[in-house]
Amino acid sequence: ASAWMRASETALNEATRNNPSSIRAYSAEMGETSMKREALMREAFFALDNGEISPWFQPQISTDTGRVTGFEALARWHHPKRGTVAPADFLPALQDTGQMERLGEVVLYGALTALKTWDRAGFFVPCVAVNFTAEELRNPKLAEKIRWDLDRFDLSPDRLTIEVLETIVAGSPEDAAARNLAALAKLGCRIDLDDFGTGHASITAIRRFTIERIKIDRSFISRVDKDQEQQRMVSAIQTMAERLGLETLAEGVETSGEHAMLGQLGCAHVQGFAIARPMPFDDTLAWLTQHNTKLGTLPQIRGGTAI
Ligand code: C2E
Ligand code: CA
Ligand code: CA
Repeated sequence: ASAWMRASETALNEATRNNPSSIRAYSAEMGETSMKREALMREAFFALDNGEISPWFQPQISTDTGRVTGFEALARWHHPKRGTVAPADFLPALQDTGQMERLGEVVLYGALTALKTWDRAGFFVPCVAVNFTAEELRNPKLAEKIRWDLDRFDLSPDRLTIEVLETIVAGSPEDAAARNLAALAKLGCRIDLDDFGTGHASITAIRRFTIERIKIDRSFISRVDKDQEQQRMVSAIQTMAERLGLETLAEGVETSGEHAMLGQLGCAHVQGFAIARPMPFDDTLAWLTQHNTKLGTLPQIRGGTAI
């Protein structure tokens, strides 16, 4: 009887994970997946404390000059047995256990440390982008905390980019997240609108939030060099951005063909596997050296300040 109860609970959990009116029958496979998920969930709870989660970095470059204009910090879990675990497999666990604020701290600390280390090594990296969820942005102390951290690291606020989803800016300006975002923009941090084109932020909202740049979602980028429909979409986004005085970054650029086409369409920055995959901090030093050599440009400004 107790096994039957456990099985029905597993099926119930699986159903509620999908949507409110889902129906699920128990299967042995479901039991196994849910056991794995629960184990990961329990482990994720301790992973942050154990220092197993840290940011990796993916470069963003200018389509014009080829120079690095920033890096995006992306969380990775270095699991002692499973190896590197991607965010999709552990963010839900951290969310369910209320640890997103802690993750934000760890990633921000890693990102600011990275900036300092690049500066000291003589690499000019204008800024680092950190992802924030709506939930993290609702923390009333966030803006003040970030101001304090930047000060402690002796970094100017424009070296930090806050990446937010359209859902945040689509919300009410009275919302705690919106207030935080406004405070961060006022402080001088840059704001990037992530996954642009997949949500439904109004143009008014984009204006209101002093967003500097939109990150055109990968769904518009793939095959942009071969597919005219994609070109039309990117070009329409590009025109809108230009008229509104916004910069653009194309994300998920996987081929040199896409990269070249995006440059022609007027997209200012690109990020994606075609340039480099996200990498551990230590690897960025060798990558930057190699990239700069490839560009054939020597000027490396010490103690880099914003462009
Ligand atoms: P995102 O912010 O849209 O990040 C871009 C994702 O696309 C990353 O996945 C990156 O590894 C991947 N990517 C980059 N270039 C390419 C490409 O050329 N092709 C393809 N197919 N993918 C590419 P990742 O690292 O698995 O992160 C997934 C999502 O998890 C992120 O999406 C972001 O929403 C979230 N995330 C990651 N790190 C953090 C974090 O520190 N805090 C928060 N709140 N969310 C995070
Ligand atoms: Ca992002
Ligand atoms: Ca994105």
